[in-house]
Amino acid sequence: MPKFKLEYIWLDGYTPVPNLRSKTQLKEFDSFPTLEQLPLWGFDGSSTQQAEGRSSDCVLKPVALFPDASRNNGVLVMCEVMMPDGVTPHPSNSRATILDDPDTWFGYEQEYFLYEDGRPLGFPKDGYPAPQGPYYCGVGYSAVGDVARQIVEEHLELCLEAGINHEGINAEVAKGQWEFQIFGKGSRKCADEMWVARYILNRLCESYGVDVNYHCKPLGMHLDWNGSGMHCNFSTKYMRETGGKEYFEALMAAFAKNLDEHIAVYGPDNHMRLTGLHETQSIDKFTYGIADRGSSVRVPHSFINAGYKGYLEDRRPNSQGDPYQISSRVLKTIAEVPLP
Ligand code: ADP
Ligand code: MN
Ligand code: MN
Ligand code: MN
Repeated sequence: MPKFKLEYIWLDGYTPVPNLRSKTQLKEFDSFPTLEQLPLWGFDGSSTQQAEGRSSDCVLKPVALFPDASRNNGVLVMCEVMMPDGVTPHPSNSRATILDDPDTWFGYEQEYFLYEDGRPLGFPKDGYPAPQGPYYCGVGYSAVGDVARQIVEEHLELCLEAGINHEGINAEVAKGQWEFQIFGKGSRKCADEMWVARYILNRLCESYGVDVNYHCKPLGMHLDWNGSGMHCNFSTKYMRETGGKEYFEALMAAFAKNLDEHIAVYGPDNHMRLTGLHETQSIDKFTYGIADRGSSVRVPHSFINAGYKGYLEDRRPNSQGDPYQISSRVLKTIAEVPLP
């Protein structure tokens, strides 16, 4: 019987943004294990801001499995953190209590910077590279350097081998900034895949001496360098199949009314990014617009052409946001709007 390398992955208790943690357990199975076959496991919560030193056991409950192509017989095991009883979600467990609906589809666009020696990959030791312009979807050494594309390509392969619904890659507006997209049906499914895709990227970058910087404005808010978002594209069954102008306007009114509640879970430091500049709307305004990248919600041309049917893009979530909480908030606001 082969020994499988089970990499249990969880989110720690740091605020405002949890870190990914993981450790390996070896276990024999006849073939690739199922979720039901994987045992609960424990860890020392006093080292992850999830428990006090005296009673520090926390429990890891496997919730999703992915083949790990970087190892022989490797399995990436996404987990929820539970209290010692194994059934009560730990307060840091942002997945356990969210709204979910397999008929609501999410597509997240994760932007991030690759960092080396404390600065974006490709930035000179002193000063700055040429201003933004040639980098977005750029090709050639002067636009994207030599290492970044190798990283994003390897990341893509690892995601695909893991069965993650990776949908695409592009070089972003700032030098050293990239994006990948993950699509999933249901908030948990999509968000599990996003967190595991982040995990794979962080781990892959170790061997390059590169870190992934997920901060939404790593170069500060006063320089002319874009921030990083994690646009949330979403569609319910009703939006895809029925839609209509009246329903769309009611939905947008609900989004406007819940402005603060959305911003609260759209990632920390978002005031630095949502300034009204750099393809964003100000943090204290809610607007929508057709093909408008300066709006809070961008309405794709395809949506209008189809008679107000399809998906919408909330551009406000940022690169450090927790996709469990973002998806759940979007579903909560949608649920406030009665169907005609
Ligand atoms: P842009 O950069 O122009 O905003 P991207 O191509 O990077 O667009 O991202 C668009 C995202 O929209 C993709 O992640 C895709 O999966 C997602 N998407 C497409 N159709 C739907 C849909 N019906 N419901 C939810 N998300 C969708
Ligand atoms: Mn995009
Ligand atoms: Mn982008
Ligand atoms: Mn987008």
